[in-house]
Amino acid sequence: MAAKLKVGILGATGMVGQNYIRLLAGHPWFEVTYLGASPNSAGKKFADAVAGRWHMHTPIPPNISGLIVADASKVDEVTGKCSLVFSAVEMDKQGILDLEGKYAEKGFVVVSNNSAYRLVDDIPVIIPEINEAHLTVIPAQQQKRGWKGFIVTKPNCSIQSYMIPLYALMKAGYVIDKVILTMLQAVSGAGYPGPASIDLIDNIVPYIGGEEEKSEVEPKKIFGKVDNGKIIPDDRIKISAHCNRVPVTDGHTACCSIQFAGKIPGMDEIIDIWRNFTSSPQELKLPSAPVPALVYADEVNRPQPQKDRDAGNGMAVTVGRLRKCNVFDYRFVGLHHNTVRGAAGGSILAAELLKAKGMIK
Ligand code: NAP
Repeated sequence: MAAKLKVGILGATGMVGQNYIRLLAGHPWFEVTYLGASPNSAGKKFADAVAGRWHMHTPIPPNISGLIVADASKVDEVTGKCSLVFSAVEMDKQGILDLEGKYAEKGFVVVSNNSAYRLVDDIPVIIPEINEAHLTVIPAQQQKRGWKGFIVTKPNCSIQSYMIPLYALMKAGYVIDKVILTMLQAVSGAGYPGPASIDLIDNIVPYIGGEEEKSEVEPKKIFGKVDNGKIIPDDRIKISAHCNRVPVTDGHTACCSIQFAGKIPGMDEIIDIWRNFTSSPQELKLPSAPVPALVYADEVNRPQPQKDRDAGNGMAVTVGRLRKCNVFDYRFVGLHHNTVRGAAGGSILAAELLKAKGMIK
């Protein structure tokens, strides 16, 4: 059996970092060999660094609890310990640009959860089922910046539940012109401890800073094309998003109305396209790829966060309630697990794609 690829986690002690540790336990291709965090955690055994703040429902994996957490900023000390780092640090934007850039410069592959690089035109924002082709920008990224390694990012956790259903229709030859979205977003998306309980019990908060912009802008980049060393966004699709924080622990729900440009598929055809949708992660049999990638729920009252967020081990998107729209062409509801598909799991799938394509030394 081939040796596993050594991977590190920057921000390992945080909410997303802990999800990486949970999801990478027993991974067939990757082995966690390096944990980085702030100077506050550096020098401590992982179990001691997260004492009183381990938020997962499963125990700390035994091979991780005794690892000594390092100061993530000491990049020179990481050489030889791993080839790829998953980055989930909570720092200001410039701090993240500098830190991730230093890792890429030293030859590491960086798969980032953070938003700092997402809108930079030579940095891919990858949903592996949709825009694998954007990885072709990486040689230009390395050449322009003098990096031996490279950076790819995963998108904001608000967009997966509608992007994959929309892309399946686009892949089948339909053009989507307009989308109106109402997002119902779980509290875990805000990190720990999240909104104060008194703000959210018996309540909905109709504002999440920055989320509406990300939900409208990132899809254009993901649907864009690589041209001359840059990713050029596809500005044809118009999206209007309302992002609301709701009292749900995990699982972001998207209520979408869509309008096509040109030909309009029938309702049965749309369901058929969704049920049969498959893409590179499924074809390459990547370990975290959900099969099927899209689940269509026939029940009139689905999808629901409690019942559907764990579909495909939290990696599948569940769609339902497809019906005619009185204003646009159709409406439907999509749902995904925001801390799995929307965060650590989505990045792990992107890293598996990089490995399967021979892009990690
Ligand atoms: P978090 O729980 O606050 O954890 C932050 C992590 O960053 C900790 O490991 C912390 O280490 C580390 N850190 C802080 N300052 C640092 C420094 N100067 N140098 C190195 N490491 C430092 O945050 P989170 O919720 O996991 O989010 C992490 C990132 O992922 C953020 O950029 C967030 O926007 C993004 N994100 C979060 C979600 C989500 O669902 N929560 C989803 C998608 C993306 P110490 O423990 O030592 O302080």
